[in-house]
Parts: sequence; C-alpha cells; structure tokens
Amino acid sequence: IQVCGFDGACVAVLGLGRSGLSAARSLRAGGAEVWAWDDNADARERATAEGFTVRDLSAPGALDQVAMLVVSPGIPHLYPAPNPIIAAAWAAGVPVDNDIGLFFRSLATRDWDRFDSLPRVIAVTGSNGKSTTAALIAHVIGVSGRAVQLAGNIGRGVLDIDPPGDGAVVVLELSSYQTELARALTPDIAVLTNLSPDHLDRHGGQGGYFAAKRRLFAEGGPDRAIIGVDEDEGRFLANQMAESPADDRLIRISAAGKLAGPGWSVFARKGFLSEWRKGRQVASIDLRPIAALPGAHNHQNACAAYAAARCLGIAPKQIEAAFNGFRGLPHRSQLVAERDGVRFVNDSKATNAASAAMALAAFPRVRWICGGLEKQGGLAPIRPHLGHVAKAYVIGREAASFALHLRDVPHEVCTTMAVAVARASAEAQPGEVVLLAPAAASFDQYDNFEARGADFIAEVERAGRA
Ligand code: ADP
Repeated sequence: IQVCGFDGACVAVLGLGRSGLSAARSLRAGGAEVWAWDDNADARERATAEGFTVRDLSAPGALDQVAMLVVSPGIPHLYPAPNPIIAAAWAAGVPVDNDIGLFFRSLATRDWDRFDSLPRVIAVTGSNGKSTTAALIAHVIGVSGRAVQLAGNIGRGVLDIDPPGDGAVVVLELSSYQTELARALTPDIAVLTNLSPDHLDRHGGQGGYFAAKRRLFAEGGPDRAIIGVDEDEGRFLANQMAESPADDRLIRISAAGKLAGPGWSVFARKGFLSEWRKGRQVASIDLRPIAALPGAHNHQNACAAYAAARCLGIAPKQIEAAFNGFRGLPHRSQLVAERDGVRFVNDSKATNAASAAMALAAFPRVRWICGGLEKQGGLAPIRPHLGHVAKAYVIGREAASFALHLRDVPHEVCTTMAVAVARASAEAQPGEVVLLAPAAASFDQYDNFEARGADFIAEVERAGRA
C-alpha cells in the first residue's frame, strides 16, 4: 500500500521491525524521503540494505526537517516514560503516527461517490481473543466468497497487504499499543471482545488501557460497533454508543448468557449462540460440536465473529457452516496430541491470568502447566477455576515464587518445560487434559509465546516416544 500525502517531504521512522520497515517502504512508494532509525544495529543494517537513509533521530535538531514521525508499536511513547525521540517530536511540534494511522489515512482518499462498492475495514480489539476473533471473521468472510485480507497485530503488517479492491474486506487485529497512537482510526465495523487488566505499565493503569481501546469507537467512528458487555467497561461503552435502546448500529455480545432489551444482540448460553433483534430470536447455532472453538471464551469470540459477519449480510446458516470448517490458530486452544485418553492442549498465548482462567474453565480436569514472567494484577481471575486443576506444574525462572499463588492446589515446581511435560504426561489419567496456559509472559525463558508453545509441542512428542 502506498502512503501518499508526503511527496518530497521527509518522514522519520523510529523502530525498524516488521511494521517500521513496512511503513518505510509504503512511505517511499508514495514519494516521501524516509529517515530510518532503530537503537539496534542489526535493524539499522537491514534498513540500509533496503536503501533507506539511516539517521540518528536522537541527535540534536534531527527532527527539524521532518514532516512526521512514524513509531513502531513496541516503543513506549507515554508510559512508563516517553522515548526521548518521541518526546523531542512533541517538543518540536512534529506529528507522531504509526502504521495503522497511515493505513487509515491512505484509505481516506477514497472516492466517496462509489462508497457502496468500496472496501470495508473491520477492526478487532480487546484484552483477549483478538487474534482468534479476527481470524474467525476472516475465515467466515472468505468462505462466503468475498475477498478478504487479515493483518495488524496478528502478524502481517497492515501496509504490507495488497490494495483492497472493490467489495473486499480487510480485517485488522489491533492491540492497545496500536490504537493508542494511530492518528486516524476509522474502521467501518469495530469490535471490542472484552476488557481485563493487561499491559498496565504501558498505559499508566487500567484507565489508560481502556482509553486506548475506546479510541476505535470515538465519535464519528465506525458504522457498526460490536461490543462485549461482560465487563463494566464494555457496558459503559455500549451505552455511550447507542442513540436509543434499539439502535441498530450497535450489537452487544456476551458469553455470560441472555441479553435483555430491544437492541441487537448475540450471546452464548449453555453452548448455544443466539442472535436477538427487537426482542425476538432471529437465529441460533449449536457451538458445542465445533472442535476448534472449545470453552466459553471461544464462544465469546464466535459471538463477535458472527456479529461481524451479520453486519456484512452473511446468512446464519452460512456462518455456521464456516465455523465448522475453522481450524483454529496455533498456540490458542490447539490440540497437539491425544494419547490413552489424555489430550495435550497448547494455549501458550494465554499470557495473562484472565486468558488462562478461560482455558482452565474450558476443560473439566486439567494437568496445568503454568508460570513464567508474572504480570501485574496477580492470579485472582484464576481462583474460581482452580477446582478444575488436578495438579499444577510450574515453569519459569521464578517458578518457586509463582508457585506461592498455588498453595491451595497440588503443585510441583518443575522450572523447565521438559520436566513439566514429562511429569504431567506420566501422571495424567484418561479424560484429563495436559494444558499449557502459563498465565504469564514467556520472556524469562523464550523469545516469545510461539517459541514456548513450540517447546511444549516438542516435549509432548518426546514424552510420547518415551
Ligand atoms: P489476543 O490476540 O487478544 O491475545 P488470542 O485469540 O490470541 O487473543 O487468544 C489469547 C489467549 O486468550 C488464548 O490462548 C486463550 O487462552 C484466551 N482467550 C481467547 N479468547 C478469549 C476470550 N474471548 N476471553 C478470554 N480469554 C480468551
């Protein structure tokens, strides 16, 4: 995608990871002169190899000639302390944006006379379930026969997609880091799955975190808002969006049972998804047989995806058929093996307590592999589900201190994945699930959650050969 509007002007790009480099390329394609910078020498070398001018943006006066500073989502811009280059941009009055903002800006030049045939953008945010929901939405749209591309936090840089053609749909997964900074944020359909404490250090607390997510729903924002109302923040936001109790631009979703009221709602109850409109049930889907979407949390994701597909006019029966063909994403409720009646499930993406709690709730009896870098907020959301835990096998460099949270359940400090998987698979009984759902970040032992999940899979295979 070309980013226009900076022809001949100089744009600085800070952070040369995937999204930074892709922003640099799109800006160059649109005619901008790009000055690129990253603290990391390898990243700078990659930029040089692609022919970008590398300039130390922290040098005094470096931003004097710059029309805009484009920042990668990984770089803190406000909390715990602004990056000095970003602070210098503020001081110099240089606008700061990111690749998501540039993407929406590039769409803003669309031809409004042909509005109905233009591409549509669906943006998905929330604390948990973003990737699953975004992937499920893209899957359903693809099965319905429309052209669709999936991008954003889920892996593909939003500026790396092909320019979407008429009638095509772009599904974006957006993290709070991305929504907080983007100057333009104008999806046609915006989805908030749920909200629980996460990344509090980067947003100066829960209020800042919620504010970052809320920006997707700002006034003049989406044509359609799909909002999870299982938390107070979601209920508040839905209430603010609705012009009237039956406002059709808003779909409330819930995984906690029936929603009352005359509005449009999609909720899951006892494994069934229901769509209600104007006080009447319109459609219902039995989610229980859908293997890739186990547990109430995935039913919440299914409700969100269903609602988005309905906004595009896809019929309930078609959505149900597409759900049944969904294969799920790696490292999220991923069934990796089944031996002697024991299932091995990789939910390495459960990096916070709320997501691990949902994973535990999805299975009746669990050999639970957990631990890693603890996040702020503690393990409180997990307490109600500890009854499902046959035993916990604690990994991570700080395994012993993590285990203090687990005084009330049988547990063992294993430290490494190899020991945890070997012990859990030796002790598991038929009908139980050996579940990796760490409730913690992975960076103490791994590069990322994918590497942690891959290690789990490798150890499960090894245990099978033993
Ligand atoms: P995100 O992209 O928001 O991190 P994912 O779809 O990658 O979300 O899922 C991350 C983890 O959160 C999964 O491993 C799963 O345990 C859990 N999870 C998935 N959907 C939900 C949900 N709707 N509510 C709570 N937890 C969820």
